[in-house]
Amino acid sequence: MKTNDTVELIVAKFGGTSVADASQILKVCEIAKMNPARRVIVVSAPGKRNAADTKVTDMLIACAEARLAGGAAETERKAIVERYASIQREAGVGEKVIAAIDEDLRQRLASDRSHRGRFLDLLKAAGEDNSARLVAEIFRKCGLDAKYVDPRDAGMILSDEFGNAMVLPESYDRLAALRQQPGILIFPGFFGYTRSGSVATFPRGGSDITGAILAAALKADLYENFTDVDSVFAADPRIIEGAQSIELLTYREMRELAYAGFGVFHDEAIVPAVRAGIPICIRNTNRPAAPGTRIVPRRPYQGGEVLGIASADGFCAVYVDKYLMNREVGFGRRLLQMLEDEGLSYEHAPSGIDNMSVILREKDFTAEREERILRRIKNELGAENIEIDRGLALVMIVGEGMHYTVGVAARATCALAQAGINIEMLNQGSSEISMMFGVKGSDRKKAVQALYGAFFMRQHGN
Ligand code: ASP
Repeated sequence: MKTNDTVELIVAKFGGTSVADASQILKVCEIAKMNPARRVIVVSAPGKRNAADTKVTDMLIACAEARLAGGAAETERKAIVERYASIQREAGVGEKVIAAIDEDLRQRLASDRSHRGRFLDLLKAAGEDNSARLVAEIFRKCGLDAKYVDPRDAGMILSDEFGNAMVLPESYDRLAALRQQPGILIFPGFFGYTRSGSVATFPRGGSDITGAILAAALKADLYENFTDVDSVFAADPRIIEGAQSIELLTYREMRELAYAGFGVFHDEAIVPAVRAGIPICIRNTNRPAAPGTRIVPRRPYQGGEVLGIASADGFCAVYVDKYLMNREVGFGRRLLQMLEDEGLSYEHAPSGIDNMSVILREKDFTAEREERILRRIKNELGAENIEIDRGLALVMIVGEGMHYTVGVAARATCALAQAGINIEMLNQGSSEISMMFGVKGSDRKKAVQALYGAFFMRQHGN
């Protein structure tokens, strides 16, 4: 990894709470000043200033809906303009930018509404686009050489799946040219343009994706993701009060943890940066001195074999029993094919000699699908026993060091047994960096507490 002196380019993304008002944006300016390598700043739309507040993106959706319902959406438009105006006044920059934002929204609202998804995206994108223009203005007032970058000019080309767009490969080469531009570039997150020139957005929370794409395209030394928490925690702080911070984790660990409902950010969002091998750092805009969490391709393991515990509700299991299943060629394939025929993707498939189970997301496994699949398993696979277990939670312990440590499973199962939790299912990931326990949904929190006690209180002598 490069040392601080050799870091030339950092792409830093700031989420909604980091640009929610002028005082937050001034913190962003200070953070940019602290390290001249932070040359590309990706911004979200203004987020919530307090728990009762509304995100600008949600205000824009309400505005678009009002217009789609045939109204003029005047009230909604004015409320949005006022959100930006309050930032402008507090920051003490000129009013011109607000007149431009008002005009921009009027034009968007007057656009073609024949395609609902496209119209919604055009409005949603206004949040980030105008945020970037205003942030650039505030940066300049703070004496920084900053300029707004239009994703259309820069070449952020997306597929035309409105609201769920994906970056197209040609974007990378085009975006790479930004590296040559002088000064600080303020790039709006969340949206780009289709080949035919329409605005399209990523899924919600998509500014993280923009940042990761830019980091990859510009071959950044680091992708910083600024949010409002100090770090990623070893377990959900809502379940474990005072859960430890994680300072360093690998891409694989993050992916396993995120899969089982680990918050902070969306693992898929950072795929472009992961593919390009760019280290990622999650940091807090409100406490920039805190080291944050670094996510890297590899890390050394010094004890502490379990790095994090994640858990998620909403799973179900289909158990299939058949004597001598192990001798039957293609049994597993045929079972999975039945799921495929129903358009279902499975999460895990632990198996034994005479049985196999498949874990699915409960929301996808509807009663009709259940009936059809059960019938086929009975008739086509000749299964002797089939059971469906709903209301399951998955609890996962993750850590690269687990691979080298004896007795992790024993310690985990013992802790769960002592807490009186029945393990419905146990699965070790093939990579051996994770172990998954299926427990009843009602036991989920207790299971996380028991595992945290076993691996963290002991390891770290608390
Ligand atoms: N503003 C968008 C949202 O609220 C995108 C983002 O913040 O990442 O989903």
